[in-house]
Amino acid sequence: MRWPRTLGLGLGGLCVGVGIWEAGQTSAFVWALLAFDALAWPQLAYWRAMRSPRPHDAERHNLLIDSLLGGFWLPVMGFSVLPSALIATMLTMDNIAVGGRRLFLRGLCALVAGVAAGWLLQGRPWVATTSLATVLACLPFLIAYPLVIGLTAYRLAKRLREQRHAHEQAEVAYRNVLDAMDAGIVLYDAEDRLVLFNRRFAELYASIAPQLRPGMRFEDLVRQAVAAGFIPEARGREDAWLAERVHTHRQAGTAFVREFPNKQWRRIVEQRLPDGGLLAFSTDVTDLKRHEAELEQLIGERDAYAGALQEANQQLERSSNTDALTGLANRRQLDLRLREEWARAQRHGLPLALLMIDVDHFKRYNDAHGHVDGDECLRKIGLALGACATRVTDLVARYGGEEFVLLLPHTDHGEALLVAHRCIEAVDAGAIEHLDSPTSATVTVSIGVAAMQPEVEQQSADLVRMADAALYAAKLKGRHRVESMAIAQKGRVARIASKDFCRTGT
Ligand code: GH3
Ligand code: MG
Ligand code: MG
Repeated sequence: MRWPRTLGLGLGGLCVGVGIWEAGQTSAFVWALLAFDALAWPQLAYWRAMRSPRPHDAERHNLLIDSLLGGFWLPVMGFSVLPSALIATMLTMDNIAVGGRRLFLRGLCALVAGVAAGWLLQGRPWVATTSLATVLACLPFLIAYPLVIGLTAYRLAKRLREQRHAHEQAEVAYRNVLDAMDAGIVLYDAEDRLVLFNRRFAELYASIAPQLRPGMRFEDLVRQAVAAGFIPEARGREDAWLAERVHTHRQAGTAFVREFPNKQWRRIVEQRLPDGGLLAFSTDVTDLKRHEAELEQLIGERDAYAGALQEANQQLERSSNTDALTGLANRRQLDLRLREEWARAQRHGLPLALLMIDVDHFKRYNDAHGHVDGDECLRKIGLALGACATRVTDLVARYGGEEFVLLLPHTDHGEALLVAHRCIEAVDAGAIEHLDSPTSATVTVSIGVAAMQPEVEQQSADLVRMADAALYAAKLKGRHRVESMAIAQKGRVARIASKDFCRTGT
């Protein structure tokens, strides 16, 4: 508005100047005010508008001041017809061009207020005739100002056209971008009404796409999608599903994965926008879902394998530590436990006892009864011996062939002897017939007992050797008996004979 106003008020000032001259105005105040209005005010108005945070509002305000000042001049010129009509018309035209009906009315009020002020302050009698000087002074304004206004309006219209063109191009560009996206995109306004959607979205809801119209309610859109079978999970409970969906849709932001027809899976993210609208986009996660299912299956298979492997390992460990015939601990487990218990006894200064048990005349048993019965006999003896070891720390093992061992931690010589006697009695109680034993009618065992408190210089094998030696003594003394060896004092081996169980007396 700067240059149209500078030109308009400058040329208008010329009309008014001639007008007030002919009306006989001599007041210095009037001439000074005219100089201000015609020359200074246009620049001041520009400065005000530029300083304002809302330049358009400031310009509207400036136009009202234009009208107020313009109105002032009419009575001051004694309502000289040509300049008065010219000024009132131009000012009104400005107001209508910029602010339509509303600014026209407000400008009219300002004009009337200006007229009243001029009338009160410097009103002149009506000047009935228009002199040639006045006509000539008005001509530049009359000719130039409409031209400038026309030019300004043209430029404005051109700028608007250019802006609309740029806007249309931008719209095409963003439409292309939206349509090029693999994600389905849909936008709703703050009232949950459809604003726009892209091509992928339309493809996704192909059968209802022709019915989708900007302005339609979200609820109606989803209802159509449900009715068209797009939401497998809603089948059979359409109304409840729809109510839930509308509820989650109203929340600030949601994300979920949903199955679509033809085993398609899509992840849908809904995001509330600052203006209250909602932007939703869905991406295809079918591959991801498939991989997830495959992974879950693999994990399940892996867990099953791991379980089977663990079971097999446990089985292996059990069988590697167990004697297959009797189910007792085998030689391997005995060796391990003996080493452990030996070290423990050594560390804590505890007694440790070992019973070496051998079946009497077992070769003859085999020969007389056969190996199958021999095996059965060994099983029964293993069972009987197993019942004799009462503490959880005791270990009953098959040492090899028809020999068994009882390892008794925390057990001194006396206690070990008691256990050995219990074993002899337990086997006797089994009363397994022996058809070819020179010493007994039933199967018997001989036991060598060894007990000691391990010293640093000794080894676990010493305990086995002692038990072996005691067993040998028991055999020599006629079998079916307990012989023992114990280290009573440090370094001195004592041999203590035990009760003789031999029924034949040999
Ligand atoms: P002794 O009273 O001196 O111990 O005489 P024995 O016959 O028991 O001793 P010997 O060591 O001569 O014989 C042991 C027999 O035990 C020889 C072998 O055939 C038998 N035997 C070893 N292991 C098994 C087995 O697993 N099953 C069976 N049936 N017999 C076995
Ligand atoms: Mg033997
Ligand atoms: Mg034997």
